[in-house]
Amino acid sequence: MVKISVVSGFLGSGKTTLIKKLLKEDYFGKNPYLIENDYGVVNLDDQLKNEVGVQMLDMSSGCICCSLVGNFLVELEELIRMRQPEHIIIEPSSVSKLSELQNVFCMLKIPYELYTTVTVVDAIRFAQNQYVAEEYFWDQMKSADAVVLSKVEKVSKETLASICRQIQEKIGDRKIICEPWDTAYAPLLEKACRPVSYEANVSARRLMLPRGRMRFKGA
Ligand SMILES: [Zn+2]
Repeated sequence: MVKISVVSGFLGSGKTTLIKKLLKEDYFGKNPYLIENDYGVVNLDDQLKNEVGVQMLDMSSGCICCSLVGNFLVELEELIRMRQPEHIIIEPSSVSKLSELQNVFCMLKIPYELYTTVTVVDAIRFAQNQYVAEEYFWDQMKSADAVVLSKVEKVSKETLASICRQIQEKIGDRKIICEPWDTAYAPLLEKACRPVSYEANVSARRLMLPRGRMRFKGA
């Protein structure tokens, strides 16, 4: 079954950087397919293709959660049928509502697994972005499995703590990831987005190790 992941967030928050980082960490498996919907801005197609060799579909004539829904569904189903990718990563436009996009997925006539839904939030522009487009801002966070804060090294500890508090109040028990970006994110996201399968994987790995050597793979 095809896996679908969504990396949402405002313009300049670091969505593309996070996708690149996760591609390099093999989070999306082999030969994932990226659908990019950042219309009206310079896109990073070539850079991404060259750097991480990902296949891409660019939808830039509207927003996939509203004006482009019909096209998007057709393209997505065709992509799944024709190319049979293991994993599709979707980067919605800055001004898309994640809750609406999730409703769009419900219209898909092909079985799929919604794998990871994450929203990237710029720590520096937190207050500013909140006032500019509050509705989108919180919708994207409330509808995600986890929130990733970017540029955390560039704000004070107090500011970061205050941002985390404000977000946590809105997203309940879902996780906020605010490690510096040179940390490996794949395990953090895995644990935040699918704690049950993560725990199962960890115990499976534990069992496979010879007795007396309780070290995790990669540790
Ligand atoms: Zn939209």
